Amino acid sequence: ALKVAIVGLPNVGKSTLFNALTQTAAAQAANYPFCTIEPNTGDVAVPEPRLEALAQIIPSKEIIPARINFVDIAGLVRGASKGEGLGNQFLANIRDCDAVAFVARCFIDDDITHVEGKVDPIADLETIETELMLADLESLEKRVVNLEKRAKTGDKESAQTLRLVQVALKLLNEGRPARKAEVSAEDEKAWRMLQLLTSKPALYVSNVDEGSAATGNALSNQVAERAKRDGADHVVISAQIESEIALLEPAERTEFLETLGLAEPGLNKLIREAYHLLGLQTYFTVGPKEARAWQIHKGDTAPQAAGVIHTDFEKGFIRAETIAYEDYIKFKGEAGAREAGKFRQEGKEYVVQDGDVMNFRFNV
Ligand code: GDP
Repeated sequence: ALKVAIVGLPNVGKSTLFNALTQTAAAQAANYPFCTIEPNTGDVAVPEPRLEALAQIIPSKEIIPARINFVDIAGLVRGASKGEGLGNQFLANIRDCDAVAFVARCFIDDDITHVEGKVDPIADLETIETELMLADLESLEKRVVNLEKRAKTGDKESAQTLRLVQVALKLLNEGRPARKAEVSAEDEKAWRMLQLLTSKPALYVSNVDEGSAATGNALSNQVAERAKRDGADHVVISAQIESEIALLEPAERTEFLETLGLAEPGLNKLIREAYHLLGLQTYFTVGPKEARAWQIHKGDTAPQAAGVIHTDFEKGFIRAETIAYEDYIKFKGEAGAREAGKFRQEGKEYVVQDGDVMNFRFNV
């Protein structure tokens, strides 16, 4: 599963949020196999109402959702890039993730110490971003001399890497994250190989007080503005409330959400945003044994989608039998969709659409 790092200063509510995420996962564990939960990393099911609807039509014995892995990254303080706090370990853990959720403290509570002395989410986010930028600067500067040497000998790959390193260094020296770079399609892979902390897709999470879960508050509005300026996604959540919701039975949960003015748990929003942040979409396979959601990247072709199930499916790909989700529901399954002419045979070039219900034909 793709990994999202939960990052923020101490005492902003990261662990509360992480525990709520994994408690929900634990509650689902009976229904969903392959649930792994460890102290600071947990697989979480991506909420997918369409999957339940599909499973009812067949009906399927088991429902298997797509998953995202969340990692609670503890120990970031001012000076982390210089080894303060858990310093380097902390940075290595983020490097290992595919995207970053920055948690900002937007609740006032005098009983809970703020490491920087006052509640100021924008300043907090800047402190964190600065540490990550410093870490990127340091790792890139170390590489320049070597790359220059190798580029001079005519090594094309080193020349490309050097050019990208310089693009990143220029941004970072201006105090801007590497995320701001415009990278061409040809450079995309080499750019990712730089493994920069500040080039990972980012999401802001405002952790608000219990009363502001539905509406947000003045502090989360500041974060929203900043997110907009940065072209980043933003989610308002009350970690405290979410950890309470996670412990409730489904019936009680609905009632509690209503009293809070929430249509769904904030965690669902967070998980969905993370899913989009990672550039992911879903296709389905359905049968009497299981109805399952598969995670692919937007733009993936049918053979690539097949490869997510098994590499043999991709290698021996012949064709994909495909029904759009809406058609599958409307015509109550495969037979009905066939009659209505909505059952398609798609070849190697087919770009899979979100919600496609698929069956692959392949040579072994
Ligand atoms: P971390 O250091 O970022 O992982 O922060 P924690 O999740 O351990 O939270 C620090 C403290 O803040 C704990 O005592 C939490 O109970 C409390 N806390 C977290 N979220 C909220 C919130 O939304 N409202 C209030 N009042 N307290 C919260």
